[in-house]
Amino acid sequence: MNAHVLPRLLESATPAPIAHPSFKVYTARDLDRIAPLRRLPKDLRFAMQVVSCVLPFRVNQYVIDELIDWDNVPDDPIFQLTFPQQGMLEERHFDLIADLIRGEADPALMQEAVARVRADLNPHPAGQMQLNIPTDEAGNRLFGIQHKYRETVLFFPSQGQTCHAYCTFCFRWAQFVGDKALRMASSESATLLGYLESHPEVTDLLITGGDPMVMKARHLAAYLEPLLAPEFEHIQTVRIGTKALSFWPHRFLGEPDADDLLRLFERLHRAGKHVALMAHFNHWRELETPAVRQAIARLQACGALIRCQGPLVAHINDDPEVWRRMWNTQVSLGLVPYYLFVERDTGARNYFEVPLVRAWEIYREAIQGVSGLARTARGPSMSALPGKVEIQGVTTVAGEPVFVLRFIQARNPDWVQRPFFARFDPDATWFDQLRPAFGADKFFFES
Ligand SMILES: *Cc1c(COP(=O)(O)O)cnc(C)c1O
Ligand code: SF4
Repeated sequence: MNAHVLPRLLESATPAPIAHPSFKVYTARDLDRIAPLRRLPKDLRFAMQVVSCVLPFRVNQYVIDELIDWDNVPDDPIFQLTFPQQGMLEERHFDLIADLIRGEADPALMQEAVARVRADLNPHPAGQMQLNIPTDEAGNRLFGIQHKYRETVLFFPSQGQTCHAYCTFCFRWAQFVGDKALRMASSESATLLGYLESHPEVTDLLITGGDPMVMKARHLAAYLEPLLAPEFEHIQTVRIGTKALSFWPHRFLGEPDADDLLRLFERLHRAGKHVALMAHFNHWRELETPAVRQAIARLQACGALIRCQGPLVAHINDDPEVWRRMWNTQVSLGLVPYYLFVERDTGARNYFEVPLVRAWEIYREAIQGVSGLARTARGPSMSALPGKVEIQGVTTVAGEPVFVLRFIQARNPDWVQRPFFARFDPDATWFDQLRPAFGADKFFFES
């Protein structure tokens, strides 16, 4: 009945027609086929080949053509975001793989060396997947579902476990290189729906991946459409974690089922659900192309609200000016800044990590430069085992320099919003390196 309304809305949201390219992807095998790479020095290209044996690599034509400034390579932030760099591996790891390539080593030998290097890179940080898998009444583990914080359930649909390109810092990198321990997604909408129906305390469903926006609209609909039934009235919010606005905004424009996807969002919205796209952005550059602007407008025309989050990482965005401009751009487009994350302790962490004190300084300087509407961004936030821990600041209490911390989210809801203190450590880059202040031997939540 309302079928004609949406196209009209969409039309007004997409004023200038733009070309609709088809999706063209490159992986480690295709490094030689990426035209602008041929202009780069040989040693740089060899280094990419070495690193891409260990860490996942995937990029697409849109990122290459529209996001990377090839005159600024290798320093360009989007190049750093998507292309392997020598510094991402420790020297001993790099040399090991480089020597094997140069010596044209036997594939089995190579595989074994690659596996050893990967095992050294903390492939399973903070019990992300394994620890929060719920069970049903019969005690069966419900793979693909994660329920860590009372009101929010995460769902990993099996069709959404890849991305339109890979971030070089991705904390799920091990999954993308085929780590079977992490492959636990579900294609069972019945499992998800059964779980949600029996958990009335859950208000938010968060569909995540990989990137669920790589899915066909009809697959996504199989999970989401049933939520319109009265028994799911307690599910008020459907969140979708995605980097498609950055890596492939044409997902919402010219792809054959783009309109079906937007109509699905619109049906949920009209039924009174809050549809939130949790968009991953790392740099304001990702928000500047005509395609991303039109994709944002189309999503907004369907009633979806876009919230923005992303980690702070060296070589890409460890600069308050980048965050200030990104948050301002987001607000001007009607997007809501949500989280600034601390990069997790996995993969190429040595290359990307920023000391916690520096992360806080960057956050603080950036937030000072924006209006209140952009100060909805919380952080720097660490997704650690007990919960999301925010660094509120560095100060001195009774002569002792300390980090002031709080839980934004916690396994135990009672821990949230209680300030607590850790000894100041200028080199600490992650939560597990922090010790309680004032001579205490435990943090309050450890007793
Ligand atoms: C961040 C996160 C959520 C969502 O938390 P909000 O504070 O509601 O955004 C849910 N589950 C897990 C495991 C998370 O890390
Ligand atoms: S979009 Fe997310 S899941 Fe995909 S590679 Fe980037 S950080 Fe990882």
